[in-house]
Amino acid sequence: MRDVNKTFDLQGEVSEEERVSAAMEAFQKDINRTTATAMEACMHCGVCAEACHYYKQTGDPKYTPIWKLEVFKQAYKREAGPFSWLYKRFNLKKEVTLEQLEDWQELLYDSCTMCGRCSLVCPMGIDIATLVGQARHGMFKAGLVPEDFYKVAERAETEGSPLGATADVFEDRVDWMGDEFDTDVYFDQEEADILVTMSSIEIMKYPHAIGATAKILNTLGEKWTFRSEGYEATNFGMMSGSVEWQKNSTMKLINAAIDCGAKLVILPECGHAYGALRWQGAAMYGKPLPFKVQHISEYLADVISSGRLKVKKVDQTVTFHDPCQVSRRGGATEAPRTVMKALGVDLKEMTPTGDDAWCCGGGGGVVTIDRAKDLRYKVFELKMEQVEQTGSDTVLSTCSNCRQSYADAKDHFEWDKNIESLLELVADNIVEND
Ligand code: SF4
Ligand code: SF4
Repeated sequence: MRDVNKTFDLQGEVSEEERVSAAMEAFQKDINRTTATAMEACMHCGVCAEACHYYKQTGDPKYTPIWKLEVFKQAYKREAGPFSWLYKRFNLKKEVTLEQLEDWQELLYDSCTMCGRCSLVCPMGIDIATLVGQARHGMFKAGLVPEDFYKVAERAETEGSPLGATADVFEDRVDWMGDEFDTDVYFDQEEADILVTMSSIEIMKYPHAIGATAKILNTLGEKWTFRSEGYEATNFGMMSGSVEWQKNSTMKLINAAIDCGAKLVILPECGHAYGALRWQGAAMYGKPLPFKVQHISEYLADVISSGRLKVKKVDQTVTFHDPCQVSRRGGATEAPRTVMKALGVDLKEMTPTGDDAWCCGGGGGVVTIDRAKDLRYKVFELKMEQVEQTGSDTVLSTCSNCRQSYADAKDHFEWDKNIESLLELVADNIVEND
């Protein structure tokens, strides 16, 4: 029997049949050799369940990662698998219904941050997080995205920023931070070696990231710029399930970098934005990107390791939160540790940490879904326990979305820990060149 407490949102006024067929068409488009192998390979061992913070914190089997893909799998088996004729003929796999898709919305959006912890542990190598992203394509086409989340993604498409950080707003913030940090913040330079980007969370909530980045790049004598036509490293298209919207925002960055002749694009302290350009940018551009892409923590690790940037020692005990998309999914796990080592902080690692770190619970767009907040706080308790065990009062991170997630939970729980940015700590402790 259907759970009467289930919640879902619908976009657009279309018939039930049209919604289902839009979802099925998108699912079929995403079924390729890799997807098909994943769908066939699961041996139902349940290892992925223990890796997921939603299952871990609730014990509810519906949060088992592979179960979140069950309707996608049903569509594959019936419509595209090698035995689809058999499944159809004897109705062994039923047609996907609108009711199933509506019920499924909570599992695909409210309770998956696409953190990839399940993908890491699956003995069959099934990349569940990526498959969740693909399943969201069908949900988006069917108009079945949580409304709060949809509106944020739509704003990113129509206004160029999910949080209203338009080019004019950004330019104001750039001027403000230039004054505050007493440094030049380059904007719309015609030529530059480095294009720097920001996430809207930084522009609107943590603008010191703008000044901190400028101060570091100016100390190094870099020729760099922000560009008004491509500054927002957003990824809400990707997370909501719209390939088209994501391509539009990613192409703005690519074109801005090409226009100013940048050899390097630096992505900000934002996890999902990193994946959207670093790992998916070339596919969206249709050929290899003509520039290098680095997360800001990778750039900092490089300039510190090479001796170009010198930093003072900081007498502080900290723990570090690994952003899932930068560490586990991005591969930049060591970079922030190289930077923290140079700063001389007393790093108390969480257990587990690095590639095995637990997610903050705010990624994948979950932080935008108001109805998911109780579940989000529940899973955050796992992070609180981890931080408490380290004995540190300060958590550093290299993702503004994680930072926002911690800050929100800190208010909710009246928690006495601080969440700070590694980038800003570096900027505050530069040894100026003579
Ligand atoms: S860990 Fe992998 S093989 Fe095991 S149940 Fe999960 S998806 Fe299936
Ligand atoms: S990607 Fe993360 S949140 Fe989503 S099912 Fe896997 S472990 Fe859970």
